[in-house]
Amino acid sequence: MIIIFEKNAKQNDIQKVEKYLTENKFGLNRSQGKDHFVLGVIGDVSTINTDILKEFSGVENAIRVSESYKRCSRTFKPTDTIVKAGNVPIGGKDIVIIAGPCSVENEKMVHSIATKVTKKGATIIRGGAYKPRSSPYSFQGLGEEGLKYLKEAALENNVPCVSELMSADKLELFEKYVDIIQIGARNMQNFTLLKELSNTKKPIMLKRGISATVEEWLNSAEYIVSGGNPNVILCERGIRTFENSTRFTLDLSSVPVIKKLSHLPIIVDPSHAMGNRKLVLPMARAAIAVGADGIMVEVHENPDKALSDGPQSLLPYQFETLMKNFKIIANAIGRKIYELD
Ligand code: PEP
Ligand code: MN
Repeated sequence: MIIIFEKNAKQNDIQKVEKYLTENKFGLNRSQGKDHFVLGVIGDVSTINTDILKEFSGVENAIRVSESYKRCSRTFKPTDTIVKAGNVPIGGKDIVIIAGPCSVENEKMVHSIATKVTKKGATIIRGGAYKPRSSPYSFQGLGEEGLKYLKEAALENNVPCVSELMSADKLELFEKYVDIIQIGARNMQNFTLLKELSNTKKPIMLKRGISATVEEWLNSAEYIVSGGNPNVILCERGIRTFENSTRFTLDLSSVPVIKKLSHLPIIVDPSHAMGNRKLVLPMARAAIAVGADGIMVEVHENPDKALSDGPQSLLPYQFETLMKNFKIIANAIGRKIYELD
């Protein structure tokens, strides 16, 4: 349920409603919209009589939220959520660029790529240490050693880092080494894992499942948020359709759809969607134009020798071109690319 206050409602009137609700053991979510202050009510709201709330002075309306992903919905919280990864804000006016290798292959390569991409404007680095590979014979990642190298590369370049967590038993390890925990497409509906993520305050980057609808995706986010971790970033990475000219179909329409339905930030990963570095460039540009709060791309210095996802990994010079394009497009839509101070 949400309670919408009249334009310029008095603080005193708002406090009276808050007191009534907290005395009745409800949790509150406060948000100041452009014109109206909105209170989101948390708890079993079926016991609340909306007519009583509407009688309070300063209250314009009390409405039951119909979406199942209530706490992630824009109805419940009209203002955009900004998730902070280290000092980097995701979901505000600035667009954040995340770059790095698909997998951390060794210490030297992750340091080298991290230095190159951060010099060109990436403000978060990525690298997988536990890899969800389709074949059990493919490189599975370096495990903790990989996380350690990624963290060291991040510290060296003074940026946060993101890596994929596949099972709850590694959560403590990830809390130690990463600034954002990525939940991959294949685990978007691993509800046991999602519930565990409520026990950390680390930001969670929740990738869209390859056959998930936007509603299913938001319901997965709701598992994390309703359990007590509000720091969720959505990541569109392409879905499986009948089209096979690209690795997946990058559903860029999900960006404005999510913006309408939810207050959570959304970033786009064109690398896994397109599967081919030449196709990553135009779709990354489009993702900025359509309103994404960030872009995540894979970069490798020698993609032909990469242990995973070489064909879709950009060469450092292509990443540099992309950054130049991004600045122009961001400017055209009244935003800018986030830069470190
Ligand atoms: C990744 O980002 O390395 C990855 C495996 O992504 P996805 O879960 O989108 O396939
Ligand atoms: Mn990859």
